[in-house]
Amino acid sequence: MKIENNYNLSKLNTFGISVNAKFFVEIQSEEDLQELFKMEEFFAKDRSASGGKNNQKLFLGGGSNVLFIRDFNGLVILNKLKGITILNEDSETVTVRCMGGEIWHDLVNFTVERGLWGIENLSLIPGTVGAAPMQNIGAYGAELQNVLLNVEAFDISTQENKKKRIFFKEECHFGYRDSIFKNELKNKYFITAISLKLSKTPKPNISYKILTEYLDKNKIEVKNSKDVSDAVAFIRRTKLPDPTIIPNAGSFFKNVFLKGEVGEVKMKELLKIYPEMPYFKEENGSKTSVLIKIPAAWLIEQCGWKGKRVGNVGVHDKQALVLVNYGGATGEEILVLANTIIKEVREKFNLELSPEVNMI
Ligand SMILES: Cc1cc2nc3c(=O)[nH]c(=O)nc-3n(C[C@H](O)[C@H](O)[C@H](O)COP(=O)(O)OP(=O)(O)OC[C@H]3O[C@@H](n4cnc5c(N)ncnc54)[C@H](O)[C@@H]3O)c2cc1C
Repeated sequence: MKIENNYNLSKLNTFGISVNAKFFVEIQSEEDLQELFKMEEFFAKDRSASGGKNNQKLFLGGGSNVLFIRDFNGLVILNKLKGITILNEDSETVTVRCMGGEIWHDLVNFTVERGLWGIENLSLIPGTVGAAPMQNIGAYGAELQNVLLNVEAFDISTQENKKKRIFFKEECHFGYRDSIFKNELKNKYFITAISLKLSKTPKPNISYKILTEYLDKNKIEVKNSKDVSDAVAFIRRTKLPDPTIIPNAGSFFKNVFLKGEVGEVKMKELLKIYPEMPYFKEENGSKTSVLIKIPAAWLIEQCGWKGKRVGNVGVHDKQALVLVNYGGATGEEILVLANTIIKEVREKFNLELSPEVNMI
């Protein structure tokens, strides 16, 4: 394990932003992590020399959900913990444990090759397994929380006693692109592994509109989870820009949700002015639990941003949720663009867009 100084991160974030980390280290094993904890003294010295400023740590996986605004004045820890194991199985389910540095899609392949059901709809989401609980990754009608059993993580918030803790699903406070790790425990726990409970019996989840249409159009009869995985991968390749060609971090913004009776009233008002506004309503029995989703992409498109370029940055021409770096952009330029879009959507619709990407 080697600690590097002033390490350039441009190849470690899918936006391709060129910033430096003051310190950088790659973790290959839990022993590396323990060794790093012992070096705390070294970082403590740097902290006191900088008047307490250089005290930050940042965990990095595939860098596909971060926007670096400036140089990182602390230690970047790159997660390279590898290994996928089957912990146990019964007649209907299999429990799989996966180390956090594995590539998420490799885990999907591992499960579909074994005929397991549960994460096939999440195929081809970029990044690592360790970052997946951060925002409860989701796509095509599925979310990580549907199959997650637990998350293993080291508490690094204190100087001493860096203990491993197991978070059971209920303790992760999962929500739409959200979890406890993105809020109260942000940068406090390093996720080293997750365990999932997957099904041996077929459980196709193919009601998501685009997926159903694709399967019907191509007369694909779903016989196993790989059929779903292949379909999702195909659709994703046609819909989303490849960050290796046009640097981006996927959806920059979350969809907008209106809640409860107040949300219903607001939706009615919006529909009076914009009758064509798309929305999806979920009712879970009571009026107070009503959730109305308004696609952020539509709001952005209505403000004229789809396909628009400003200098080195812009909004993708096929997917209005995706902000792109056309080359040489700074994080600041992307941020200015994002804030302009947020402001225009607020002014036009009185709705608040919030970023999905983690600003660093
Ligand atoms: C083209 C494209 C398409 C995408 N599509 C989707 C999609 O369909 N659905 C979806 O949910 N997301 C999507 N994303 C976003 C992204 O792929 C996911 O959020 C992914 O889980 C990020 O993984 P990562 O390893 O790249 O995380 P990073 O970008 O490296 O990190 C993201 C955040 O997690 C923290 N973090 C990383 N690893 C750890 C760890 N081990 N312990 C604690 N904290 C950690 C980081 O500090 C940072 O705050 C897409 C991104 C791209 C570029």
